[in-house]
Amino acid sequence: MHIKTLILDGFKSFGRATEIPFYEDFTVVTGPNGSGKSNIIDGVLFALGLARTRGIRAEKLTDLIYNPGHATTEADGSNSSESPNEATVTVVLDNSAGTIDRTQVINAAGSESIGDVDEIRVKRRVKQTETNYYSYYYLNGRSCNLSDIQDLLAQAGITPEGYNVVMQGDVTEIINMTPQQRRSIIDEIAGVAEFDAKRDDAFEE
Ligand code: ATP
Ligand code: MG
Repeated sequence: MHIKTLILDGFKSFGRATEIPFYEDFTVVTGPNGSGKSNIIDGVLFALGLARTRGIRAEKLTDLIYNPGHATTEADGSNSSESPNEATVTVVLDNSAGTIDRTQVINAAGSESIGDVDEIRVKRRVKQTETNYYSYYYLNGRSCNLSDIQDLLAQAGITPEGYNVVMQGDVTEIINMTPQQRRSIIDEIAGVAEFDAKRDDAFEE
């Protein structure tokens, strides 16, 4: 399972809908400082709901909406001066190997009519109104909540606590950890930590 495409629209420096292809084995993003490379990773964290522990670089969710006054270099080269009132990011996952099975997608989406699951499309939208802001998640076009998305992605080993995304500084942090702390990371990656947490919950009850 891998990311096939990332679509950013109104997200951070991506003022216009921008589609970024990812290859199966290796993709490198290069560009000048401030051109939006890290914003791409922020987009993945945002859409997959992985930001809790991994930290998107924004104070509040609405800071993620494209702001023409903010951008020095626009990632898509546009110079639109309008400020949209919403940002969306779609992560298209290649599920052709069947890592996540159809029943799981149906359960998470709460609908049988989700079509083909060779592709899993996770979309997140943040919308700003005059008085408030709203956050929405979609799975293959069906509206759903974050926990449904997280449970589904966990089947493929994609979790907020996991190391699917290795952030700047993570490597140094891991090197400086105590052996116990490092062991807890291995437990997390191996999927043991989930059962430890469930066991602790059970004992508590
Ligand atoms: P570096 O090589 O220095 O790591 P980078 O390519 O990773 O650079 P990013 O951090 O992804 O660059 O992009 C930073 C740019 O994104 C800045 O120019 C900043 O103004 C712009 N930016 C961040 N948030 C927004 C926003 N809400 N609207 C418009 N532009 C934004
Ligand atoms: Mg960067």
